[in-house]
Amino acid sequence: MKTPTLPQLLQRNRVLVVCSASLAYVLYAVLTGLVDPPREGWVALLLPKYIAGVVALLTAAATLLRPARVGAVYAVTSVGYLLVAVLEIPRAVAWGDMPFHLTLWLTMNVLVSYLVFGTRLGTAVNLGSVLTMIVSVLMNGPLEASNMADWVTAIIVLGGTGLIAFNVMAFIEQNLSAHQQTSQRLQAARKDALTEVLGRSATEEELERSIEQALKNRAPLSIIVTDIDHFKRVNDVHGHGTGDDVLRSFGKRLRRSVSTSGGQVGRWGGEEFLVILPGMARPDAVVVAERLRAEVADEPIAGLNVTASFGVGSLRGAEDNAEDLFARADSAMYNAKRSGRNLVR
Ligand code: GH3
Ligand code: MG
Ligand code: MG
Repeated sequence: MKTPTLPQLLQRNRVLVVCSASLAYVLYAVLTGLVDPPREGWVALLLPKYIAGVVALLTAAATLLRPARVGAVYAVTSVGYLLVAVLEIPRAVAWGDMPFHLTLWLTMNVLVSYLVFGTRLGTAVNLGSVLTMIVSVLMNGPLEASNMADWVTAIIVLGGTGLIAFNVMAFIEQNLSAHQQTSQRLQAARKDALTEVLGRSATEEELERSIEQALKNRAPLSIIVTDIDHFKRVNDVHGHGTGDDVLRSFGKRLRRSVSTSGGQVGRWGGEEFLVILPGMARPDAVVVAERLRAEVADEPIAGLNVTASFGVGSLRGAEDNAEDLFARADSAMYNAKRSGRNLVR
């Protein structure tokens, strides 16, 4: 199993936060409805609180069904909540008391919005909701002094919570982007600068890792060592630049040919490459090597007819190691050279 990346972890967190916040709201609507039932009978189910409860339930369901779309789901939810708040506020103002339930939920929603939408869109959404709230309070007639104090408190707490959440989210985003830059740089450092297949040390690392994995899973593992035939001649006749082109195309061809079956390609040095084939026993690996040999020999590489020699080695068991495995494949490759080149051994 692959360890999840940081962006994947953040995405999981978003799903978790949206689901738990939504279900918390559903719980609130149901429990407060039970302990303090509305007096207006079934019409009361049209109270903004219950409408918001349905929105929350749909949000949790949609998020669980389409976790990858949590951002879009919550955008729709936010519009729903905003409409409910706009419905609720005039009622609250008319009744002369500050709906502190609403304020508590709006505060929680500020946190959720920042986490789901990020700093930019989060700020837009949250500023939009607070402004809507202020405007709808102001439009609903004069307030008593104590009531006004409650509203002022609510709006300031909302704003303050927003500011804190903004800074926490900004910190998360900065970390994420720093992490992404570092891992891109690490990824680039693993590659051979000329051919863009794995470089020598990354190839050694991958070989060690693949052996460890194969032994753990009791799975077969084979490698192919390949070396371009008479490459010195390519340099001598066509120049070093063409030699480089051949190396690049050779590496690309190997990679294209084995990557679909989970194979990895690395440049061991000069014009010698290593192909790692997890899950493959010797007979299959010989077939792959033969296919590679034919592909190289049959289609010109960088405009030249080039051949290569191939040596196959397979993991023998727990007492085997990277050095011995490589030595066997390398000596098989030299065997192919001695036997006339353009061969698999
Ligand atoms: P063989 O069939 O026995 O493998 O013969 P060969 O000529 O391929 O082998 P040899 O080891 O004699 O020559 C390898 C050549 O590869 C020598 C070296 O100049 C060239 N070479 C190594 N690295 C590079 C590189 O990065 N670019 C280019 N253009 N040439 C390179
Ligand atoms: Mg060579
Ligand atoms: Mg060589």
